[in-house]
Amino acid sequence: MSTTAVSVPMPTVPRRRRTPEDIAAAAPVTGEKHVLLAAPRGYCAGVDRAVIAVEKALDHYGAPVYVRKQIVHNVHVVSSLEARGAIFVEENDEVPEGALVVFSAHGVSPAVVKSAEDRGLRTIDATCPLVTKVHKEAVRFAKEKNHILLIGHEGHEEVEGTYGEAPESITIVNNPEEARTVHVEDPEHLIWLSQTTLSVDETMEIVEILRERFPKLKNPPSDDICYATTNRQSAIKEIAPQADLVIVVGSSNSSNSVRLVEVALEYGAKASHRVDFANEIDETWFEGVATVGVTSGASVPEILVQDVLHLLAEYGYGSVEEVVTAQEDILFSLPKELRATLKAAGDPDYKGVRSANLM
Ligand code: SF4
Repeated sequence: MSTTAVSVPMPTVPRRRRTPEDIAAAAPVTGEKHVLLAAPRGYCAGVDRAVIAVEKALDHYGAPVYVRKQIVHNVHVVSSLEARGAIFVEENDEVPEGALVVFSAHGVSPAVVKSAEDRGLRTIDATCPLVTKVHKEAVRFAKEKNHILLIGHEGHEEVEGTYGEAPESITIVNNPEEARTVHVEDPEHLIWLSQTTLSVDETMEIVEILRERFPKLKNPPSDDICYATTNRQSAIKEIAPQADLVIVVGSSNSSNSVRLVEVALEYGAKASHRVDFANEIDETWFEGVATVGVTSGASVPEILVQDVLHLLAEYGYGSVEEVVTAQEDILFSLPKELRATLKAAGDPDYKGVRSANLM
């Protein structure tokens, strides 16, 4: 493996607002203090691939490499890549003509691809293959004269990209309330698709509401909510009923991280909080807490989880049991534009490799 590790000052263990003694005095803990650590957690194959794509582009083409939108929704990953020479932009018109731009894991609409072509940009498409699958479904079902109810969060980049494949044939359904009111012209030719990072349970609830209103609603050929989202939610469902507190490591714009907090609370965690870094943890959360669940979203490097575990150990939660609910060994090949360059340069990683996880 030749991926370069990035050295960025880590937010290692936090300023201390309350000592462990303060916390114990405020609310004594009954029971043994320990951590239940979810597995799978953290990086999925699509995030891994997208981060490597930027790292390899920097290695082979040199800085700067432009990236449209955050390559993945994680503050640490973005700042680490910025430190190596990646420049993150919102739109193609911020990229100098002829420069190299990487499209993020969340995917882009055909209009974005066209605008890159119009500017003469060189592109590497790091869209996760599981997002591409949903794009292809949208194109196919629209061609077959279906109307598509796209369950997802309007404004999220992935939803914008999928919607842009067939805007005249897609209506976005954000939540159960919208499922109860959405207007459909032709309920005889209707199919649903979804964003890949939603709550599995809420999506099924929305589908049930839609099906009651539109009995001819068709299912997609396979689940759109991806394996990584499903597995991380399954792991936290196992832990949540036993947890006094669940800490989810992930950024506020990471859909699957935000969903993990909601799922933890739904499945019985007494409290749950999302943090980007260990130093965002408020030690008062530990008052009266024996069992802490820990997990992380699909765009989170493991080093950030380890930082949280170090902090927890300082507060007496040094006993860590990993709760494994699935094994993951998926590895996607790198974007084709990059594979060709790597192969020509004799880079042995051209077929695909796991990232250095930004440690
Ligand atoms: S969360 Fe799922 S769809 Fe998104 S990048 Fe990861 S594997 Fe792909």
